[in-house]
Order: sequence, then structure tokens, then C-alpha cells
Amino acid sequence: MTTSQNRYYQKDILIVDDTLDNLRFLDTILTKKGYSVRKALDGTMALTACKNLLPDLILLDIMMPEMDGYNVCRLLKANQATSKVPVIFLSAIDDILDKIKAFEVGGVDYITKPFQAEEVLIRVENQLALKAAEQKILSLNIELERKVKERTLQLEIANQDLKRELWERKQLEEKLLYRALHDPLTNLANRTLLMERLDEALKLTKIESNYHFAVLFLDCDRFKVINDSLGHLIGDELLIAIGNRLQNLMKDTDILARLGGDEFAIFLDKIADISYVKLVADKILKAISAPFQLSRTEVFITASIGIVFSNSNYNKPQELLRDADTAMYKAKSQGKSRYCVFTYSMYQKALKLLQLENDLNRAIELQEFIVYYQPIVSLTTGKISGFEALVRWQHPTHGLVSPAEFIPVAEETGLIAAIDTWVLQTACRQLRNWQEQKVIGEEISISVNLSVKLFSHPNLLETINRAWCDIQLNPQNLKLEITESAIMEDIQATAVILQQLRESKIELSIDDFGTGYSSLSYLHRLPVNILKIDQYFIRNLEQNPKNIALISTIINLAHTSELRAIAEGIKNPVQLKKLRNLGCDFGQGYFFSKPLAAKSVVDLLASTPQW
Ligand code: C2E
Ligand code: MG
Ligand code: MG
Repeated sequence: MTTSQNRYYQKDILIVDDTLDNLRFLDTILTKKGYSVRKALDGTMALTACKNLLPDLILLDIMMPEMDGYNVCRLLKANQATSKVPVIFLSAIDDILDKIKAFEVGGVDYITKPFQAEEVLIRVENQLALKAAEQKILSLNIELERKVKERTLQLEIANQDLKRELWERKQLEEKLLYRALHDPLTNLANRTLLMERLDEALKLTKIESNYHFAVLFLDCDRFKVINDSLGHLIGDELLIAIGNRLQNLMKDTDILARLGGDEFAIFLDKIADISYVKLVADKILKAISAPFQLSRTEVFITASIGIVFSNSNYNKPQELLRDADTAMYKAKSQGKSRYCVFTYSMYQKALKLLQLENDLNRAIELQEFIVYYQPIVSLTTGKISGFEALVRWQHPTHGLVSPAEFIPVAEETGLIAAIDTWVLQTACRQLRNWQEQKVIGEEISISVNLSVKLFSHPNLLETINRAWCDIQLNPQNLKLEITESAIMEDIQATAVILQQLRESKIELSIDDFGTGYSSLSYLHRLPVNILKIDQYFIRNLEQNPKNIALISTIINLAHTSELRAIAEGIKNPVQLKKLRNLGCDFGQGYFFSKPLAAKSVVDLLASTPQW
């Protein structure tokens, strides 16, 4: 056995016995076995020995003077420091061993005298092994408890982390959801949120017959002017302020949404009847028309509102918005700053418009358009000086459709570019054709109407130039007509394009002059050649001296600006005479001729008319 093993095995055993022989015997066999042995002759010594160094095991004689073994054991067990040391009682064979008592006071075993070495060693070893095992269990338990505590703490921390992470994720989700459903500028609901709410409301109308709601479509009047003149920052500030004002008029169950730009929509829930909705609309109009005090300026604005009242025929939220939008446009056309309630006739009209739109698309593909030509007569010579090309639509079922009906729709849908380009090419080709056939002289011109919507078209100039170039028409034979109201929409931009056209030697006419509410002062700034006096002024020329004065002013104005004047819509010889007297340069109207198909023009020219 090595020293280290020895040390490892050297358990400390305290033997307590008043008989020296016993002490010696036990000491011998235990020391021999490798134990460290201490000896005490009585209880008091034993207790002191324990206090000095806690033994691993005590062999305790029962019968001792002064304090017997039972008492010593009781004291040892009562003391927390010594209570865990196993005690084996020693008793002589003739002693009356009270085994029960021995165990009761805390003994773990007993050995009877005379001692047998093997028995002593086995019992000692047993108890020490038991003690070691107990200690092992104890330390394992402590370790286990420590580990459980440590693990619990880790779990608690992990749990906290998880909770925080969940909370953060929930916050983020809420933020994202909020962003997805709200307008970033005004913080109001956006179109998606409104549509969701409308969808729910529509479902309810199918279940509950007396449930009603309303949608208000609000569009600011002249907002573009504010944005363009005061800048987008002020525009944004105004939109936020409008949003706030509207929000103050809403109930908790209502929804105010910004649809984009200067458009808002309002969902009024649980409406008893339309009169309440009208009341709200009135309040909104009033609230908006009060001045807005913004950070740098005061702004006045009005709004137009379209109202749609729910009914069970609606299936999709889009249908509600579409109809409220239609009603809003009606309110605008009636003079703005008002509301208009959507009606069935508006629906029918919209439907008809939609049909027209579809038909128009197809008409371009199938080339259902034809060009008519109306002569323009020189009032000095009385002879035809040119023609105006006027488009017609040969509709397969509706017959000849007037441009007044389809041009506005074509403008709105963008189809106008294709139509105007086609008319331009057709009219130029026709004129060249007549020139080649010597039906007309080289001085006869063709006037083509051009929608202002084309002015934003990137290849406008190229298209126009190609039209006369390809056909080898002299650009001086081509005149373009642009309506006065169209010019007024964006006078700056129009002027630039008109200037470029003029450089190609193409003459320019202002069509429907006098109806555009324009200030006459802009005239000299525009590179135009001809004013076409609107037929409105010619219509009652004979009876209305005021109109005569007005026409006279326009003609004089034209002449002082080095422009020529054309009177539109001349219907009788009296009108013709008056206009001649006023010095009007040209005339156009049913009195001379209605717009004609190309081959009828040839017949007309063959008769060499003169008025
Ligand atoms: P506009 O350019 O002012 O053309 C004159 C309109 O007055 C023509 O109507 C013509 O038929 C009509 N008119 C001429 N003389 C008389 C008359 O004595 N009495 C009456 N009551 N009417 C007369 P139309 O052809 O129906 O064209 C209407 C408008 O449609 C045109 O007015 C023009 O602004 C537009 N338009 C016609 N063709 C085209 C086109 O190819 N492109 C574009 N963008 N617009 C066109
Ligand atoms: Mg015209
Ligand atoms: Mg006109």
C-alpha cells in the first residue's frame, strides 16, 4: 500500500473505554489495519477529543463511571457538529445490553466483548463505508441542488430573454402592421385599411337588412395650385391640417382615410338615413373652408365631396369608392365646394362611358374613324381658302358619332394621341391627294385640331413634322388648332411647344376663342397666327348688338396683334354680311357648307363656289 493510498484510507477512529486492555486491543487491531486511532478513558475526554478533531467513527463503551456510553452518545447526537459521527457501542457479554436504547440514543451498531478482531474490523468497516456512502449521497445531493439552482437561473434568464424577444417582435409586428395600414404623412388610415373595413361592412349589409353605412369621397379643390405655388412642404402641412380637422368630426366607429394626393375617404358606420350623412358633409365643407393657419402662411381651400349610401347590391369595396368618386366629380362639375349624392342615373352614365371607352379602344384597332372636311372661306374673296379636318366615328351600331361625345373620353383615357395622329396623317395625305389631282390649288390649307393632352407627349413635334414631311406637303399648308381653354391650362408649357411648331412654319390657331375665360393680355405672348371666334358669339349676332361689339373687339385685337380672325358657325347671309363689315378675315359655318366626306368636297370644289 503506498503512502498516498494509506493517507486516503487513514480514517480517524476514537475509542472510548475505561478499560485499558480493551483500549489497547482495539488500538492494535485498528492501527494494524491502517486506521488512525485516538483513545479516551471517559465521556468527558471523548467529547473534548471530538471537539478538537471530528473522528470518522466512535467506538463507545457503555458501562463507564461518571457518564455512561448512552449519555455520551446523547450528547454527541445533540450537538450538530458531532451528530453525524457514527457511534458503535461496546458492551461486555455479561452487561445487560439494552439494544433498543442503544439505537434510540443514536448508536448505529454494537459489538460485544470479548472482542473478536474480525468482527470489530467488519463492523467498523461497514459503518465507515455506510458513512462514506451517506457522505457521497449528501455531496451528490448538494451538487445536484447546485446544478438545479444554476439551471433554474439559466432557464429564468432564457425565459426573460425569450419574453423580451417576443415583446420586441410583437412591437415590430404592430409597427409593421400599422405602417401597412396607415398613411405615413397624416397617420390616417390608408386605402388598404379602408377597403378592409368596407369589406366587413358590405358583408354585414347582406345579413342585416337595416344596417346602413355611407362612404364620402373628398377631393380638395385647386390643391395643385397650392402645391405648385407654395411648394410641397406647405402642401403636406395643409394635408395634415385637413386630416386633423376632419378627424375631429368623426365618431369612434367612423374611419377617415387618406387615399393619396389630396383625396380622402370617410366611412360613416351605422347610418339611420341619408339626411345624417348630408349633415356630416355640410359640417366637413364648413370646417375645410375656414382658413388654415400654417407655419409660414395662411391658406384657403375648399373641397368637393361625393357620397355613396350602402345598399345590398354592392359586392366589392371598389364599387363603393368608384361610385363615391363619380359623385365627387359631379360635385366638381357643378361648381366645386359642395357635395353630391351618387344616384342610379350617374351609374348608368358611367356605365355608358365605360362602354364608350371599350368601343373606342376597338375603334382604333378597326380604324372606324373617318375625317370630314369643312371649308373655311376667305371673306375678302368669298372663295374657299382651306378646310378644317373634323373627325367622326363610324360606330358599328350607333352610326356616326360626334367628336364632342368621344373626344373628351379619348382625352381622359389617353387614346386621343392615336386618334389625333391618325387624323393629322389622313388630312395631310388627303390634301396632298387633292393637290396632285389638281382639285385644289397650292394655296389651300388644312386645319387639324390638336388636343392639349398631346402637348405632354414626348414625340409630338416629331409626329407632326413626319406627317407633312412623309407626304411631301408644304408645312405652310398645315394649320393646327388648339382650344383656348386648353392653352389656359398651362400657358407657360403651351407657349414653348407652340414656339417650336411655329419654327416649322406651321400656322397656329386658337380655337373656340372667347370661351376660355382668358385674359386677353396673354395673346401677344403666344406665337399664334389665327383667332377662331367661337360660334357662341356668332349665333345671335343679328339680334344682339352686344355680341357685335364683342366680335368687333376681338377682330381689332387680332389685327393689332397681327393675327387673322375666323368666325365660326356662320349660318346665314345676314351674319356673313355683318362679319364682312366688321373686317373679319375668314368664315366657317353651315351657311357655306357642313363638314363633308372627302368625295363630297370634290363635288363642292367642282362647282367653284363663291360667297
Ligand atoms: P371645333 O374645332 O370648334 O370645330 C367646329 C365645330 O363646329 C365642328 O363640330 C363643326 O361641325 C361645328 N360647326 C361648324 N359650323 C357650324 C354651324 O354653322 N353651326 C353649328 N351648330 N355647328 C357648326 P364637330 O365636328 O362636331 O366637332 C366638335 C369639336 O370636336 C371640334 O370643335 C373640335 O374641338 C373637336 N374635334 C373634332 N375633330 C377633332 C380631332 O380630330 N381632334 C381633336 N382633338 N378634336 C377634334
Ligand atoms: Mg377646330
Ligand atoms: Mg371651334
